[in-house]
Amino acid sequence: MDPACGLNKEGETVKIQAYAASGPGAPLEPFEYQPAPPNLEPTQVEISISHCGMCHTDIHLWNNDWGFTQYPMVPGHEIAGTVTEAGSLAKSFREGQRVGLGWESGSCGECQYCRRGEENVCLAWKGTCTHGYGGYASAIRADSRFVIPIPEGLDSEAAAPLLCGGITVYAPLAQEVHPAMRVGVVGVGGLGHLAVQYARAFGCEVAAFSTSPDKEAEARRLGANRFINAREEGALEQAANSCDFVISTVSADLDWAAYLNVLKPKGKLCVVGVPASELRLPAFPLIVGRKSVFGSPVGSPSLIREMLEFSARNGVLPVTERFPMARVNEALARLKANQARYRIVLAN
Ligand code: NAP
Repeated sequence: MDPACGLNKEGETVKIQAYAASGPGAPLEPFEYQPAPPNLEPTQVEISISHCGMCHTDIHLWNNDWGFTQYPMVPGHEIAGTVTEAGSLAKSFREGQRVGLGWESGSCGECQYCRRGEENVCLAWKGTCTHGYGGYASAIRADSRFVIPIPEGLDSEAAAPLLCGGITVYAPLAQEVHPAMRVGVVGVGGLGHLAVQYARAFGCEVAAFSTSPDKEAEARRLGANRFINAREEGALEQAANSCDFVISTVSADLDWAAYLNVLKPKGKLCVVGVPASELRLPAFPLIVGRKSVFGSPVGSPSLIREMLEFSARNGVLPVTERFPMARVNEALARLKANQARYRIVLAN
């Protein structure tokens, strides 16, 4: 037997069926690989994937927007499934347990951030589908530190999008806002429709800024008190000085000066969506209003556990469209065209 082949605990060869792109924007095609090293490492867990959410980051990576995609590339980092095997040191996991895996799959474990449970800002982070093959697949092996038990009250289709989309908006909201605040959510997409729900569940007044007027009814149903059509002439000007905190979940360039203007004095603009160009910001309103702009990457494993519990308890759930894994290219095209309502989940 090829010594590089993946083996299961019975010593049989493990083959993982996946969908991979061979180059930037190329259609995903069936792709089979054998995990290496062959045996599951003691700290690893093997997950049989039942669902994988489709995040816009998968589109950025697929197109090599950020210049570091390696092909063949298997996207997918909103993974839910069941444990098929747990390594000898992954003692808290058992076969058949429902678990999830998000964007981050590794960190140094040694730096000050890892030591205080902030692995998401470790400079040696490893991404699930950037440092290995991702979750548009039948199975995956991962470091058990980043594998998250799914609470009883959350079904796997709902849990999958929370593992990246959910935590990315939950983390800055949970850390930065309080109930008396007015929160603006820019972009009502996969991340944005969850941000609206979390901000409302935290007790905030919520304004949804969207370029899609047809999303208004759903945004209001999810908890938005105000809906602003960001393409409407003068709409952002009218919303000036109305938010303490604005979170941008948009994957495109925005009029950042206009959103700074939406902030009240001392307000914060949190950028989680990744626009194509650099942010251009006027200094004067930042200084005069003592405003700040910051970014935020996903969330630590312990915060992901907290977020899943919170979501299950408060009914913060993604609105999903389920596609069989084999229709992955159709699903990617739908997400790319901003037609997903609101998170596509691939199912095996
Ligand atoms: P998505 O489902 O495609 O949603 C993005 C939303 O942005 C769209 O639904 C749309 O909302 C709005 N939008 C799209 N094009 C626009 C344009 N040209 N002008 C203005 N608004 C536009 O994407 P997602 O999965 O939520 O991801 C959003 C971004 O977050 C991506 O860049 C992704 O890479 C990033 N991300 C970051 C992290 C992190 O750790 N920071 C984690 C996950 C994802 P409306 O129709 O309402 O306008």
